Amino acid sequence: MRIFQNHSLKAYNTFRIDCKAAFFVVVTSVSELRKILAEPDFLKLPKLFLGGGSNILLCRDYEGLVILIDLKGISDLGNGLIKVQAGENWHEFVLWSIHNGYNGVENLSLIPGNIGAAPIQNIGAYGVELKDVFIELEAFQIDSGEVHLFDCKSCHFAYRESVFKKAYKGKYIILSVTLQLRKDGVVNTSYGPIAEVLNQMSIYNPSPKDVSEAVISIRSSKLPDPKEIGNSGSFFKNPVILKSHFEEIKKEYPDVPSYAVNDSEVKVPAAWLIEKVGWKAKRNGNYGVHDKQALVLVNYGGANGKDIYKLAQDIQSSVKDKFDIYLQMEVNVIE
Ligand SMILES: Cc1cc2nc3c(=O)[nH]c(=O)nc-3n(C[C@H](O)[C@H](O)[C@H](O)COP(=O)(O)OP(=O)(O)OC[C@H]3O[C@@H](n4cnc5c(N)ncnc54)[C@H](O)[C@@H]3O)c2cc1C
Repeated sequence: MRIFQNHSLKAYNTFRIDCKAAFFVVVTSVSELRKILAEPDFLKLPKLFLGGGSNILLCRDYEGLVILIDLKGISDLGNGLIKVQAGENWHEFVLWSIHNGYNGVENLSLIPGNIGAAPIQNIGAYGVELKDVFIELEAFQIDSGEVHLFDCKSCHFAYRESVFKKAYKGKYIILSVTLQLRKDGVVNTSYGPIAEVLNQMSIYNPSPKDVSEAVISIRSSKLPDPKEIGNSGSFFKNPVILKSHFEEIKKEYPDVPSYAVNDSEVKVPAAWLIEKVGWKAKRNGNYGVHDKQALVLVNYGGANGKDIYKLAQDIQSSVKDKFDIYLQMEVNVIE
């Protein structure tokens, strides 16, 4: 286990922000993790745990220890129960599941990042969320060194939320996740343009692989590839507002889109709100708002995290002033 000093994190975050970590280490086993956490030199230092770095905005050099969680392995426990180690790449796992005849996660194709971070914000796309297939996870409690099991209920999953973003933020390291997949071939094409894209491909009885390919094609046409333009996907969550508030907005904007949440609340696309306040495609030198997807903030090359964070705050203010809606950030900002 090699410890790097003053190490650039540019290759470890999809925003491609060139901040440095005072110390950086890659751990490939739980014993390595225990060892590094017990190291007297690092005991008092702040620590940041990283997977694929696709949901993080670094605004400064990190004056502590950055630990990249790189535990590998996929175990088929039988009856569709699959245990995946935290450092496995999410999309590679989706492809593995399809290749092995499973279905359940094909709608989550091409989401960047690793398995370990997937429960943290209960990743979701195209009508499916991680919680729909989640059974349990193993997590290392940093203070005690104990490994605890969390089932679906104890993770408190919600829309892009879990207990690991709230009460247990920074207190646990996720080691593995166990999911329940199926082999019934039943797919969900009801959300967004999946059915339309499959029709265009003349596929009328889609397999999980067909759905995965449709999702990949839709995502590739809409979202910037972090390998080409630095970004972290959706920067903001779609806000949930009261129906009465929504009706007020609708008087001025009859075209405002919405999704019913329950009898009294609706979800409004944050991208629509951002576009209406004029931020879509706005560019300020080497950073800005993506021209095709207003939810995505981008680093065109060489931007710093503080500027992008300030842009995010300016967008929040504009939306608050115009619509009286607070846009919550989805990305983890290291201020
Ligand atoms: C182009 C693009 C598209 C995206 N589309 C979607 C989408 O459709 N749906 C969606 O839900 N998300 C989406 N995202 C966001 C991102 O892919 C997910 O949030 C993903 O789960 C992040 O994984 P990661 O390994 O990169 O996490 P990181 O960015 O490395 O970490 C995210 C947070 O989790 C913590 N963390 C990481 N690993 C661990 C661990 N093992 N234990 C404890 N804490 C840990 C980190 O400290 C950080 O706070 C997108 C991102 C991009 C760049």
